[in-house]
Amino acid sequence: MDYNQLAEILFPDIKETPEDIIKRFPDRNLPDGACVTRIGPSPTGFVHLGNLYNAIIAERLARQSGGVFYLRIEDTDQKREVKGAVETLINAMGYFGVEFDEGATSDGDNGAYAPYRQRQRKNIYQVFAKYLVQQGKAYPCFLTAEELEAIREQQTANKENTGIYGKYAEKSRSLAIEQIEENIASGKPWVLRYMGEETDEYITVEDAVRGRLEMPRNNMDFVLLKSDGIPTYHFAHVIDDHFMHSTHVIRGEEWLSSLPMHVEMFNALDWKQPVYCHTATLMKMDGESKRKLSKRKDPELALSYYQQEGISNDAVWELLLTLLNSNFEEWRIANPDTDYREFPYTLEKMSISGALVDLDKLRDISKNVICRMSAEQVYEKWLEWCVKYNGDFAELIQKYPKRTLSALNVGKGGNKPRKDLETWKQACDFMSFWYDETFKFEDDMSVECDDQTRKLFFARYLETYNHSDGSSEWFAKVKEITQDLGFAVKPKDFKKNPDQYKGSIVNITNMLRIALTGRANAPDIWEVSQVLGEDIVRKRLEKWI
Ligand code: GLU
Repeated sequence: MDYNQLAEILFPDIKETPEDIIKRFPDRNLPDGACVTRIGPSPTGFVHLGNLYNAIIAERLARQSGGVFYLRIEDTDQKREVKGAVETLINAMGYFGVEFDEGATSDGDNGAYAPYRQRQRKNIYQVFAKYLVQQGKAYPCFLTAEELEAIREQQTANKENTGIYGKYAEKSRSLAIEQIEENIASGKPWVLRYMGEETDEYITVEDAVRGRLEMPRNNMDFVLLKSDGIPTYHFAHVIDDHFMHSTHVIRGEEWLSSLPMHVEMFNALDWKQPVYCHTATLMKMDGESKRKLSKRKDPELALSYYQQEGISNDAVWELLLTLLNSNFEEWRIANPDTDYREFPYTLEKMSISGALVDLDKLRDISKNVICRMSAEQVYEKWLEWCVKYNGDFAELIQKYPKRTLSALNVGKGGNKPRKDLETWKQACDFMSFWYDETFKFEDDMSVECDDQTRKLFFARYLETYNHSDGSSEWFAKVKEITQDLGFAVKPKDFKKNPDQYKGSIVNITNMLRIALTGRANAPDIWEVSQVLGEDIVRKRLEKWI
């Protein structure tokens, strides 16, 4: 068969040559060892934690080496595409502090290797499709859906591998050029297949995460171009990562099984393979056993979940870093105040067994992350979240910025700072007592003592209350009233001789705390009073007399 003639029949409009494409996408001018990485999400509108997980690895490798990190939109499956998905993706990544050096942006493309959206690269793929046909390495296949299904059934019945290879490829491979021309003229749909070799060889690939992989070499006539002339993932991956000069391909382990096809293509085109890094699937505990996170069952798979719950981006990063590198937690303990971006991330320390996403652990990390922030940082980030998800609260904290900042500072000092705030959403709840507008009672004061004692206590407390008292003067007064009312000043005295007292100082301070904050578990009463200010303190207490 005259392959040049076949190539012209299949791709009459493709005039560019491989050399033209090579010229369009010259090598990058980067220092030795610089990594060029990317994420290649499909614009389905659903951005999941796995996207961020892989993005963090790719971003770290590029940043740590002075390389380039880019965004490529893999939109070859038009049926799954959702309007606005690219924007959603960029915004979600932006929320988590993942910024791209080049690639698709919400208005157009940015970078010398554009376009960064696969459907716009159709003719680039076709230049190489045509080239492979000229080389006798690809051919058109007109098998109908029914024929393909019949082959599959036969293969399943014979317990053979499914797909087009060996004798199953004969019918399409042996078409005469006149027949092909006639089929095309009559508008029969066709796909372009790679001409696989019958082989029992093995290939080896050094995966940067998994080490040496041995796999059977590809023997399939897999599809390069679908009937609409758009490439499959396999073909697009090879062409794009070659011409965008990716040094590392970081992707989920679900792509491992198609690796032999990719290796085959890189070899067929005589191109250098990138370093592959196949990452572990995200899992969760379900009862006693681990399972894959599921889009249907687990809201935490969606990145939007973390945004809506107000889990700070830093906490999500830290959780993912603990999953990504086994030594991150150790590093964090040794460097409690250092930005996580300074953690020296390495591929070698990655685990290959499923990465366990644990929301309790995330809340814990989040508490620590917020605790490490200054009051100003907390205010800023919390406000940013409130503006989007809780307008009323955003208004409130902007109405009382000074009080809010002071409130955020309460309990921050000392070597055991309070860790009251877990998420921005929970912060709206926890911080509600600082504002009359949202103040509410969560605990019941009547369990602490009888009504009469309560009235007496608050009357005396307010009588002697001096807002400018220091913490110890204030406490001395509380102790005095406690004693006068027949309560033990030392809780252990009450424990020893419960009949001699009406209760202990714990009952008294709980009562005071509930009156001031609505709950028994709240920060230091004196500090709270200082921040609330005398008017609010008096108003909240007077009603109990
Ligand atoms: N579009 C592929 C996906 O969403 C990208 C895989 C890759 O990074 O190569 O899984």
